[in-house]
Amino acid sequence: MRLELSEDEVAFRQEMREFFTTKVPESIRDTVKGRHELTKEQIVESQQILNDAGLAVPSWPEEWGGRDWSNLQKHIWYQEMDRAGVPHPLAFNASMVGPVIAAFGSQEIKERFLPKTASLDIWWSQGFSEPDAGSDLASLRTTAVRDGDDFIVNGQKTWTTLGQYGDWIFCLVRTDPEAKKQAGISFLLIDMKSEGLEVRPIELIDGGHEVNEVWFSDVRVPAENLVGELNKGWDYAKFLLGNERAGVAPVGQVKRTLASAKEWAKTADRGGSLLEDPLTAAQVVELENELLALELTALRVVANSADGKPHPASSVLKLKGTELQQAVSELVVDLAGPASLASGSNENGTESALADWTAQASQVYLNHRKASIYGGSNEIQRQIIAKTILGL
Ligand SMILES: Cc1cc2nc3c(=O)[nH]c(=O)nc-3n(C[C@H](O)[C@H](O)[C@H](O)COP(=O)(O)OP(=O)(O)OC[C@H]3O[C@@H](n4cnc5c(N)ncnc54)[C@H](O)[C@@H]3O)c2cc1C
Repeated sequence: MRLELSEDEVAFRQEMREFFTTKVPESIRDTVKGRHELTKEQIVESQQILNDAGLAVPSWPEEWGGRDWSNLQKHIWYQEMDRAGVPHPLAFNASMVGPVIAAFGSQEIKERFLPKTASLDIWWSQGFSEPDAGSDLASLRTTAVRDGDDFIVNGQKTWTTLGQYGDWIFCLVRTDPEAKKQAGISFLLIDMKSEGLEVRPIELIDGGHEVNEVWFSDVRVPAENLVGELNKGWDYAKFLLGNERAGVAPVGQVKRTLASAKEWAKTADRGGSLLEDPLTAAQVVELENELLALELTALRVVANSADGKPHPASSVLKLKGTELQQAVSELVVDLAGPASLASGSNENGTESALADWTAQASQVYLNHRKASIYGGSNEIQRQIIAKTILGL
């Protein structure tokens, strides 16, 4: 495996680095680096800047704004975004529904949705999970029954991330209750302003509002909003989930946070640099080594992905990436020490004498518990690794 970048790749990296650090407002990048929550407006503004420069959806077909980049270029693009603290293009749009519509939608659906999906003029939500249908997604019960030119949708979705911002939701719905469970599912696009659709907030352990329940009571959805063929939704969902998993290993983000943690350790108000404490130093070095190993694995996955399909080792990236993400968030709490108890003390305009990172430490730690659940829980990733990589 070649580990050095070619001259062209170095130039490409420089181009990305310059764009991300000069064109995306510093206020947005500082919000990301400070581990604060972004507003909807910040996420939209950032994606629109990227999209105007042709940098929002490089994996899509070129006709719809994609770039004919190598996997390595896409990897560099992603790493440099993380390095600069640029928010990733909204995953629901850029790596989930967009590629599904581009691959399986009719020409009419493509023209109607893809440009606005790339530019985030439509904010998409993901309506897959339901109570009792998470890991066992094919058990989903939300129904769509044909009535003239419409489907009538009834049921409940859950864990809908940022559904409070959503304009449209892409849903898996049961269209044939008689068929084997995977065979009776369709992929439907639903306007979230439709009558009978209600979004209810779920409060998280860190006090934030990031996920929701979405309820459907006799929601009328025009049949033309069906993507691809009736009852073929499971195939499209599998395609989508493969892309989702490939994008959830937060290597660059963890690297940036670990580098910040080392700076924070030097300034922690605990009688001198905490990096001089052998236990802390050993903890940091161990995480750095594990991160380096993960980075090399990410490059191996990039080198071995073909035809736009992620290598099965993307499950290793998801598993190890989220474990390291959680470990680094734990390290930051340790570094903050008792000050981490003042969780969120600088939120809502409240002044605090504590360093910003200490007040964020516990909130982020608690929030990152989610990482081993979403995008396919880590137990499920272990099963994929056991079956498809280790052949057990
Ligand atoms: C913060 C967050 C955001 C999310 N956002 C969205 C979203 O926007 N849209 C959406 O559709 N979904 C979303 N999800 C849902 C997510 O995909 C599911 O939570 C996930 O697939 C797990 O399903 P579950 O919660 O039903 O848990 P379950 O499947 O009930 O699992 C419970 C536990 O059992 C384990 N388990 C289950 N089956 C097996 C098995 N066969 N072998 C071994 N262990 C097993 C799991 O690993 C887990 O530890 C989100 C979840 C979270 C936490």
